[in-house]
Parts: sequence; C-alpha cells; structure tokens
Amino acid sequence: MTESKATGIGLLSGGLDSILAVKVLQEQDLRLLGVTFSTPFFSGQPGIDAGRAAGIEVQVIDLTDKHLAMLRNPVYGFGSQMNPCIDCHALMLREAGQLMEQMKADFLFTGEVLGQRPMSQRRDSLRSVEKLSGYPGRILRPLSARLLPPTLVENEGKVDRERLLDINGRSRKRQIELARHYGIKVYPQPGGGCMLTKEGFARKLRELFTLYPDAGAREIELLKWGRHLLLPGGVFLAVGRQQTDNERLGSLAGPEEVVLRVLDHPGPLGVLLHLTPETEALSLAAKVVVSYSDAPLEGAVRVEWKHAGKTGMVTEANNLRKEEMKQYLL
Ligand code: SF4
Repeated sequence: MTESKATGIGLLSGGLDSILAVKVLQEQDLRLLGVTFSTPFFSGQPGIDAGRAAGIEVQVIDLTDKHLAMLRNPVYGFGSQMNPCIDCHALMLREAGQLMEQMKADFLFTGEVLGQRPMSQRRDSLRSVEKLSGYPGRILRPLSARLLPPTLVENEGKVDRERLLDINGRSRKRQIELARHYGIKVYPQPGGGCMLTKEGFARKLRELFTLYPDAGAREIELLKWGRHLLLPGGVFLAVGRQQTDNERLGSLAGPEEVVLRVLDHPGPLGVLLHLTPETEALSLAAKVVVSYSDAPLEGAVRVEWKHAGKTGMVTEANNLRKEEMKQYLL
C-alpha cells in the first residue's frame, strides 16, 4: 500500500447505518474498503449493495464454518431468538481485523449506533465485542464516535474526531436526515435479513441441533424449504409445500437421508433426516406425506422411498387426522 492516507475497513451489514458510516468517513481524506459476510443465515448481498450505494469496493467472506462453530456455544449467549449478536459481531470484527492486518490497514469501522439495539449496541456490549474481537481501540463507530472513547486512529490524528458524529439511541431521525443530506434514497430496513432472529426458523434450528449436534450447512439449508415435523422418537421430517420446495429438498437430501414420494397422485416430497428406511417412523412419515397429497381420503396409497441408492415401497391409508398432524409440526 503506497498511499500515505489512513485506510479503514468497514463492516457493511447493508442497512442505512453502514452506508452512512462510509459517507461520514468519506468527508475525510481516507482510503475506505468494505467487507461483508455470508453464512447459511444471511447473505453478503445487502453489504455488496451498501458498498455500491456508498461507492466503495466490498469483499465478501464466507463465514459458514466459523459462524456455526460459534453458534454452538456463544460466550455472550443469545438474543430473543437464536441470534448470538455479540459473539457474531466479534467474530466478524475478528475476521475483518485479520484482513486489516494482511492489508496493513489502520482501522476497522462499523455503522453501529450507541443504544440503538437492545443487545448488541449498548455501551458495555460494544466494549465486550471489541474485547472478544481482539482489536480493542481499532474499531471506529463514526456515527457515535464522539460519545465513545477515542480510538487509536483518532488519537494519532489520522481520523479527525471532530468530524465524526454523536448519534445515540433508538430514534432514526438523524439517520433519515443524513440520508437526505447525502442523497441516499433507497436503503433496506436494519436487522431484517438474519434468519437467526426469526422465531419459526430459530425453533426448527434448536430442534435440529438438539437431535444432530453436528448438523452443518446442508441440514440447515433443509430447514428453509417446506414444512418441518418432529415425529415421535426424535425423527425430523421435511415435507415440501410446493414444487420449488420439493425440488430443493430433493437436491439437498444426501445418502444419509430417506426420501419419500407419493406414487399415483400429485403430492409433496418428504425427507427423513439422517435415518434409514428400517426406522419405525417410516410408516408415520409416509402417512404424513400422503396426507399432504391429493390422494383420496381413506384409500390405500403407495409411497416410494429412496435411500443411499436403494428404492422400496410402503402402502399407507390416507387417514391421518389434522389434529394429530398439528402436534408434530415445528
Ligand atoms: S442479527 Fe444475525 S447477523 Fe446480525 S449480529 Fe445478530 S446473529 Fe449476527
């Protein structure tokens, strides 16, 4: 790196605040780059879009393995759902910090606003995140910087603290004014994209991790398609709701899964996670799949199963009552 100006690497989540953090720093003579992350729970696209809106280059890092390892045992626990926000921020900052070191950049920055989010943006949380990330004093929050202790680059005069902001709290008024000031017209609402904050998804994920502590990205992907049931004996069944679900579930099922399909009638695909056709649950799972099909009530219906290259068939009556089914739905 030949320029003498200081270089900052910004974590871009994609919300308005991350765009504004860049804009505020662009008022100074700095070199700015963006970084964003992808995992099974959120994509890097909003961060890429934010970089485009702010006019900086963005690098996307696939954080899946490290994020899953962290998710199993977050130091600071979970938010209202399965969102380990403090650990997640710290992990992202640690990754960005490594990039900062590789690139010999000077500081990291984020669009965090003091007091804006109950869990991750309290003063003590910001401090915890810094400590856990391993980069204390190197993380600048331009939107609230004047309310926080000065960072190294501010102390060294590489970033002018006086030109940073003092936004505090949950109101979005100043951010909206700033968006107007910078001519930013389109931006996503903050915090909308992470599946770990969604109640229904978090419930399924908790069950998945309880049954299969080693579940990885593929099993998690299966949770995103169709409906999911927990059958007696801790049996996890995914059933498509529509054609796209069936296609995705079919392509995600591995040799360790049993795939069920109703013969002779239009119906959904079912996937029994990590089981063999010898399972006692096969009959009930087949009945569930049949009950979501167009097969006539009470009649005998053939269901094909496939597992690790083998195929077989069971015949079940379409007689599973709705109330019975409800108790299995996750
Ligand atoms: S909402 Fe999701 S992506 Fe954002 S910090 Fe929390 S866990 Fe990480």
